[in-house]
Amino acid sequence: MSTIAFIGLGNMGGGMAANLAKAGHIVRAFDLSNDALNGAVASGCIAAKSTLDAVDGADIVVTMLPAGQHVRSVYLGKDGIIAHVSPGVLLIDCSTIDIDSARSVIEAAEAKGLQMVDAPVSGGVAAAAAGTLTFMVGGTKSAYSKAQILLEKMGKNIFHAGAAGNGQAAKVCNNMLLGITMVGTCEAFALAEKLGLDAQTFYDISSTASGQSWSMTSYCPAPGPVLTAPSNRDYAAGFTAAMMLKDLRLAQDAASKAKSATPLGAQAEALYALMEASGNDGLDFSGIMKLIDGSL
Ligand code: NAD
Repeated sequence: MSTIAFIGLGNMGGGMAANLAKAGHIVRAFDLSNDALNGAVASGCIAAKSTLDAVDGADIVVTMLPAGQHVRSVYLGKDGIIAHVSPGVLLIDCSTIDIDSARSVIEAAEAKGLQMVDAPVSGGVAAAAAGTLTFMVGGTKSAYSKAQILLEKMGKNIFHAGAAGNGQAAKVCNNMLLGITMVGTCEAFALAEKLGLDAQTFYDISSTASGQSWSMTSYCPAPGPVLTAPSNRDYAAGFTAAMMLKDLRLAQDAASKAKSATPLGAQAEALYALMEASGNDGLDFSGIMKLIDGSL
């Protein structure tokens, strides 16, 4: 069994680190928040005093941090992980961050002879706790095969998306599509109601016709048809509108750099920015239904 340093024990990292400890690994955990660290200790991890203390003697480092700036700050520079770990240590960043940061951190790791992958996840807090996440991994084949063994302890579906940064590319493209289909699904349900169709009747028809999508059949934004969907609990998150906006902004940033036309992605970003501006971005992302149907 490996010794793993796990940095970032928030909503996602807490459950992921717990699953590694449950699988029998020694998990040396660190988070800036004492509450998060105490939660990890309660689920079998060992508290470290700092990031560098956590990585001391570890075979594998896993990070699950909010954004690109946090990932750059823990890996790069003279006090960063890359400067301190010995060759042979595998680095895995599971955070959702901008592609440029992911590629530059992996480049710095490789320049020191270390193997590193970007491995962002799909699936929320419940999937992190249950060990059923989907991982989209970017990096060399050799780094991917080493990471895969560990990622299988935290997830159900593990994909090699290609070279460094391609995990982040897959993640932002997927979530841009999710944001777009969610807004479209809200528009269809709001219009159906105004045209005299109730939500269940429209769902029964469209979910077996060509308008069907995951946003409709797994996460229906209109209350009623999908009992487990956040629409049936006043849009309590789930995956917040704020997180969707973060991912849509990353997608627009990537699209602008790649000179790729994403007019619907841009529109989805603008709509989720209205959720933020109106103070409603703590709702589940399917709560954009309220903006579309005018009930916000
Ligand atoms: P979170 O804010 O709950 O957790 C992040 C943790 O990182 C916090 O506990 C924070 O204290 C810690 N942290 C920040 N800087 C640190 C540092 N320098 N050293 C040590 N700890 C540090 O966020 P989360 O919901 O767990 O999300 C983590 C990542 O996963 C994000 O990139 C997010 O976009 C992505 N993600 C989240 C979800 C979700 O549903 N929550 C789903 C998919 C992907």
